[in-house]
Amino acid sequence: MNQFFTASISDTDLLISDAIHDEVRRQSDGLELIASENFVSKAVLETMGTVFTNKYAEGYPGKRYYGGCEFADVVEQAAIDRAKQIFGCEHANVQPHSGAQANMAVLMTALEHGDTILGMNLSHGGHLTHGHPLNFSGLYFKVADYGVNRETEQIDYDELQRKAEESKPKLLICGASAYPRTIDFERIGQIAQCVGAKVMADIAHIAGLVAVGLHPSPVPHCEFVTTTTHKTLRGPRAGLAMCREEFAKDLDRRVFPGVQGGPLIHIIAAKAVAFGEALSPDFKAYQQQVLDNAKALAASLAEAGLRIVSGGTDNHLMLVDVWLDGKGITGKEAEKALEAVNITVNKNTIPFDTQKPFVASGIRIGTPALTTRGMKVDEMAQIGGMIASVLHEPASDEVKSRVRREVAELTAQFPMYSSGMGSKSSEAGSAV
Ligand SMILES: *Cc1c(COP(=O)(O)O)cnc(C)c1O
Repeated sequence: MNQFFTASISDTDLLISDAIHDEVRRQSDGLELIASENFVSKAVLETMGTVFTNKYAEGYPGKRYYGGCEFADVVEQAAIDRAKQIFGCEHANVQPHSGAQANMAVLMTALEHGDTILGMNLSHGGHLTHGHPLNFSGLYFKVADYGVNRETEQIDYDELQRKAEESKPKLLICGASAYPRTIDFERIGQIAQCVGAKVMADIAHIAGLVAVGLHPSPVPHCEFVTTTTHKTLRGPRAGLAMCREEFAKDLDRRVFPGVQGGPLIHIIAAKAVAFGEALSPDFKAYQQQVLDNAKALAASLAEAGLRIVSGGTDNHLMLVDVWLDGKGITGKEAEKALEAVNITVNKNTIPFDTQKPFVASGIRIGTPALTTRGMKVDEMAQIGGMIASVLHEPASDEVKSRVRREVAELTAQFPMYSSGMGSKSSEAGSAV
């Protein structure tokens, strides 16, 4: 027996093995409310850790630059077929290593260096790859931006139309990281058509909702659609780029060899597994619960006196104004106070924020991960109460110890992965 192929990490590398066990425990003992995170199934997790990581498969199914790709072809073709079935798109490229790389490939497909893009302002919910000055999208393209209306805190489509007429972008980018409302892709498609622009819809956050029809699909209205696969779509950490058939060859060339080398076949295999899960009826029920939970959580926070940006949520996330014009605390302080009781959220700017992004007036909260754990509206009401009591008295140790206890009791009722996964090498019992 060759030890190299048989020894477990708990026998070979204690530093990393213990960190893995600590992370298993952190995930299971806390309330995970980061809107961009989720928990994958055991099947997806297992698939990522397979021998496909050993395989080079530059190229595409049936047209590889390496031998021995027959099984890599099976998994990549399955991922492509399932992605097309889920989203009803004409073409899917499943190789992007991340959402950012999917966007990079699309921008390089649709644009020449120096062309103009029109994207949503980052401080109103957009993403770095939609034109931030420090990102490739801001470095290599001219950027115009649109945002939300000051009153409604929702996308102002009339302003978007004006900005499009003014800036004459070659590519209009929609989709967001922190926008709690339904996006009108049809209207955006019409605006783009008026000014002769193409559209990229980045559905990184809402892909799971789109997959089951609980958010209108951008596919009929946009030339390009990109997404991550690890947020509401609940797959491995990676990206996916889709387009109309006429751009298929160009897009494939931009993904490889344009911005990437060899594809991560083990991750693509896990995408295929996650896409298979997304096609099952259970997934639709899951997404409906994500929505119901977000509404329940937003309602309980509003009832406790916090301000929900735009007055509510249509999707899996909400932005909560915790600063309240100086009557509350900063987003940074809120994130820290909640972390101290094992509730994980992220600070986030709110539209027209008066604080710097690193401080921020708000927090972003999402329900995908806790919904995967099995929590429902009753638990959301309970969690809303916990969050509000910590934010109302962030300095109180008494409140913190009470809420910490409540978090422990609640999480214990919703176990994750196998029970053995939390034990450290130094403790009794076998690992993983
Ligand atoms: C998360 C996100 C991305 C980037 O995904 P990565 O996999 O982290 O690169 C891109 N666009 C939007 C809108 C996102 O929310």
